[in-house]
Amino acid sequence: MKIETMLRDIWQSLLRKPVTELYPFQRQPAPERLRGKLTWNPENCTGCCLCVKDCPCDAIELITIDRANKRFVMRYDVGRCTYCAQCVQNCRFNCLGMSNDDWELAATNKAQFTVYYGSEEDVQSILEQRPEAGDQSDE
Ligand code: SF4
Ligand code: SF4
Repeated sequence: MKIETMLRDIWQSLLRKPVTELYPFQRQPAPERLRGKLTWNPENCTGCCLCVKDCPCDAIELITIDRANKRFVMRYDVGRCTYCAQCVQNCRFNCLGMSNDDWELAATNKAQFTVYYGSEEDVQSILEQRPEAGDQSDE
């Protein structure tokens, strides 16, 4: 490359606005169909465990507290999930989804990758039975 061409490129680059964003200080809204953290709405859950069987990564577990009264707790391992959405597509009761605004999931502590969904009381009873599970829970 000729020196004049190089100097012209450098000069033009200095005058141009950067195309990169100052993340995390500047953020663009996430695309509507982005597959972020798994969400679970227990209202219609029957405890069929189809989602658990379909997960190729062993990232979800459905813990039955009281089947007759439809009390379940879902354990979700963010670190194992590949965000394939297979569980979401296969739940016949539309209990599962993938959030497009909860996707910044990096953590320095592995325990933070395990989250428990369910009522506070049920999650608490599971955590007491599994002290190694730590204190990560989402309602
Ligand atoms: S597939 Fe749906 S209804 Fe069945 S256990 Fe999973 S979330 Fe519940
Ligand atoms: S999105 Fe895929 S990997 Fe993640 S929990 Fe569902 S089935 Fe498993």
